[in-house]
Amino acid sequence: MKSSRNQSSCQHSQLYRVQDHSDERGLLQTMRDSRSSELPFLFKDFYSAYSLSGVFRGLHVQMSENPPKKLVRVLKGSITAFSVCLNSRCLLMGEVSIFDMGETIHQSLVVSPRQAFGYYVNSNSSQVLVGIEESYMPHFEMGINPMLLIKLGLIPADMKASDKDLNLNNFPNLILRIIR
Ligand SMILES: [Zn+2]
Repeated sequence: MKSSRNQSSCQHSQLYRVQDHSDERGLLQTMRDSRSSELPFLFKDFYSAYSLSGVFRGLHVQMSENPPKKLVRVLKGSITAFSVCLNSRCLLMGEVSIFDMGETIHQSLVVSPRQAFGYYVNSNSSQVLVGIEESYMPHFEMGINPMLLIKLGLIPADMKASDKDLNLNNFPNLILRIIR
């Protein structure tokens, strides 16, 4: 997960701690890294996904000329997030990074360019906010079949995914490997 593990220049997805400001009214959280006064990058698009227990969303990646970063924040519930390196110049291509995220865990995830992202919902329901560095370009969207995560024992076989996601096959020769 740490960039020092990579032999190439590929930066893999990483969690960072967000800033908390709590007082008697409750809690205010910024989207910024607690060590920085700035956002990790600027967003051109946001979306919010509500999902029920056992749902899997992804694994998606935008492989455009300048592939965007994503910022992921769990507003409600808990998820297991997955990021898979699809950078063909990275020695760690195919490695799966796994992140436990939730509303009580004060961390956000930056999904690096050329990393497929997806998540499994552990709680009764979830709300996940995703900010994207570039506008969504459907013709550049590619994906990895989530069944590969079932084969690795990373998500339950009875997970619920869309027909579109269950038929993703843009990287048929990819061999997934696990890092934690
Ligand atoms: Zn990589």
